[in-house]
Amino acid sequence: MKKPPIIWLNVAVFVITFLFAVIAVPYRAITHGFDMAEISFAIICFIYCGMSITAGYHRLWSHKTYQSHWSLRFIYAIGGAFALQNSALHWCSDHRIHHKHVDNNDVDPYSAKKGFWYSHIGWMLRHYHQERYADYSNVRDLQKDKIVMWQHKHYLLLTIGTNFVIPLAFGLINGDVISSLLLVGFLRLVLSHHTTFFINSLAHIWGKQTYTDKNTARDNGFLAFFTFGEGYHNFHHIFENDYRNGIRWFDFDPTKWLIKSSQYLGLASKLRTTPEDKIQKARIAMVFQKSQLKLKRHPNAEQMLEKLQCEYDALVTKINEFYEARKKLITAKKEKLVENVERSDVMKQYNELKLRLAEQQKSWQLTIENLA
Ligand SMILES: [Zn+2]
Ligand SMILES: [Zn+2]
Repeated sequence: MKKPPIIWLNVAVFVITFLFAVIAVPYRAITHGFDMAEISFAIICFIYCGMSITAGYHRLWSHKTYQSHWSLRFIYAIGGAFALQNSALHWCSDHRIHHKHVDNNDVDPYSAKKGFWYSHIGWMLRHYHQERYADYSNVRDLQKDKIVMWQHKHYLLLTIGTNFVIPLAFGLINGDVISSLLLVGFLRLVLSHHTTFFINSLAHIWGKQTYTDKNTARDNGFLAFFTFGEGYHNFHHIFENDYRNGIRWFDFDPTKWLIKSSQYLGLASKLRTTPEDKIQKARIAMVFQKSQLKLKRHPNAEQMLEKLQCEYDALVTKINEFYEARKKLITAKKEKLVENVERSDVMKQYNELKLRLAEQQKSWQLTIENLA
């Protein structure tokens, strides 16, 4: 089949910026050196670009995982243009298609099933889906956001403005325009591009399928470090409306921390999270499925599979019972249904079910460990 026509502008931008980053930047570093102010400012700009994409384009606009004050949206819109990843409207339209049709080579704009190169950058080098380029029917909600539409309309100007004016102005202030253009301009842009692109490529190839194997998305703590928390991509694909990607407190997810901090400052609200029981059930379902596969070759397979099934069913029941009791307790507290909640039957039942769930979790863990 004939390949679609090449988008020469994109090819030129990627090639030229990449060459500057890998040849001119090291050459300048060796022959001239960079000072701390230049390095620090380049890092700040890299973080600003990256998080405008993760907290703004991705978790706010694409998935509506929280609501944000206009000032924050304005900051994201400028940072998104600085990151040179198309307008928020266009980016989100592509991204919503990616989630809805993940891994479908004919529809998913950056389907991981078409290989590393395609999902990383190849999808932007040719007119693969020209017919839907200006079809924004899946982002009608965003068309009501004045900041999104303002950025979309003036995207080219904003992109040129940020990518040239910011490094140029810093260079003039700091006294070295060339170094600033190389570091804050080129290197920052290339690093920002490829770290984001890794989410579409590596985060669909490398890592664990902790919550689902219905798609190629993976959880990868190492990748999360370079992608402002987006490396927990398996969780994200199954629970896309959650403002978090790394859900454990120690998971490296600066985007989650930024959103939470913004809430304390009154700049973000209505943060959405997935019910805890849903997360737990998804995780154990995967362990169950993997263990079943492992057991198939065991000499005592039938008996062991039966035991595994019993333990799994018991655990799911205990999870359901516990979270039901927790819901009742929260309602009782909120609506003041009982006089002394601490001594009420609702509390007693809650504590008992909590204990039973913990016991069942231990028993399940033991069963799994014995299979290993
Ligand atoms: Zn997403
Ligand atoms: Zn994905």
